[in-house]
Amino acid sequence: MSCLLDTIREADPEWESMLDELENATSLSGLIMVAWHLARVVAVRLVEETLAKRSQAKTEWGLCEKCGKRLQSKGYRPRRIKSIIGVIKWERRVGRCSNKCAIGQVAPFDKELGVTSNQKSDSGLKQVACLVAIFVPYETAAMLLKQLTGIEVSAQAIWEWVQSVGERMIKSLEGELEALAAGELPEAEAMSAEIAAQTLLMGADGVMVPFRPQAKTAGGKTKWREVKVAVFARLGKVRTRAGKLIPRLHHHRVAAVLGDIDDLSERMWLEALKQGVKETPQVVWLSDGARGLWRLFDERFQPYATGVLDFYHVAQNLWSGVKAWLDGRSKRCRNWFIDARHRLRHGQDDDVLDDIKAALALPGLPASAQQSLTKLFNYLDKHRDHIQYDKLKEMGFPVGSGLVESTCKWLIQQRFKGVGMRWSEDGFNHLLHLRLAWVNGRFDSFFTASIPSPKL
Ligand SMILES: [Zn+2]
Repeated sequence: MSCLLDTIREADPEWESMLDELENATSLSGLIMVAWHLARVVAVRLVEETLAKRSQAKTEWGLCEKCGKRLQSKGYRPRRIKSIIGVIKWERRVGRCSNKCAIGQVAPFDKELGVTSNQKSDSGLKQVACLVAIFVPYETAAMLLKQLTGIEVSAQAIWEWVQSVGERMIKSLEGELEALAAGELPEAEAMSAEIAAQTLLMGADGVMVPFRPQAKTAGGKTKWREVKVAVFARLGKVRTRAGKLIPRLHHHRVAAVLGDIDDLSERMWLEALKQGVKETPQVVWLSDGARGLWRLFDERFQPYATGVLDFYHVAQNLWSGVKAWLDGRSKRCRNWFIDARHRLRHGQDDDVLDDIKAALALPGLPASAQQSLTKLFNYLDKHRDHIQYDKLKEMGFPVGSGLVESTCKWLIQQRFKGVGMRWSEDGFNHLLHLRLAWVNGRFDSFFTASIPSPKL
């Protein structure tokens, strides 16, 4: 039987040693490693042979951008580029202006291939490197890339690629925000009818990130700045092994900004429109008591969404109020709290508010207790519409804002708060936008050559 091994052996005598290694490999994993290496070498050759053939075709010389004279061929010159399979080398005709204008060498063949004149690495390699850097520190990304592809790229190079792609992502988002401010609605994200019909949950919160106090220096005291994070998710259902249907959040989308609540507001609204907030039958806003977030809810989302105050936050506030009145260490205090919490959980907020009112009317109530209970009363009273936990539970809504907290963890904490990490504003923003694009399924669209999956 004719064998691919023999064909490869005939194709290049230099591959002989690799073929020997392949034939002598004793373990399966050893065999796979050698074959993988060989495949990459063959792939490089395939690309180079194809390029060599194509570069022979007639070159269409354009005109000099300075004087308009037709460019003149100066013959073939070498070119090389790093890629995920290895370094690719080819030769192609370069031209110069016959008037000797200082426009440098022009290579129409490179242009045809989508390669710019200073480019040293293929877009596919940049894409993979940036993807790895989304999850791990730059040094680790460089190490993983070498391990997985055999290609050596410095951490600095990956950092630079992230800055440049991140910059494009920020520009693109700013363009979308400007269009929205001008009254142009964004295109809704394409999703299945099943997902579009599911309850849309949303929420927002802030998380602190360590920054360098000054640009370009490592010294000084860490400056903590708040990053505002918003998350959207669909409430789907999955079947457990026991056959039970249980709720499961999926289709997560995020918005985040190193800025104030108004910066978040416009970004969150843009994403909400993409997620079909106006068309979705059931939309739920989950939030803790932070005032700025409820203002955002009132301004943007109140017509479309049911607001839910995080139950655990309510319980915390209830405890602070009650312990300022009754002694926090006493059994009476604990019982009062547990009973009131239970009633709140079951929608008896009117009763609890009446009880607080009654406590406030008690003769001889100390001023501090008066103050705390009044604060608690106003808090619950203001959020009356957001604490209908019995009805929420009936509708299958979660009553905690764990969705938002966990998003802050995986979106921000995981990559930006590693040991000893401190960020510059640009360095943070660029990488943040790569992470956002990745979560939102828009990462690939920022690379010219999105890697096609081969039809096998
Ligand atoms: Zn010229």
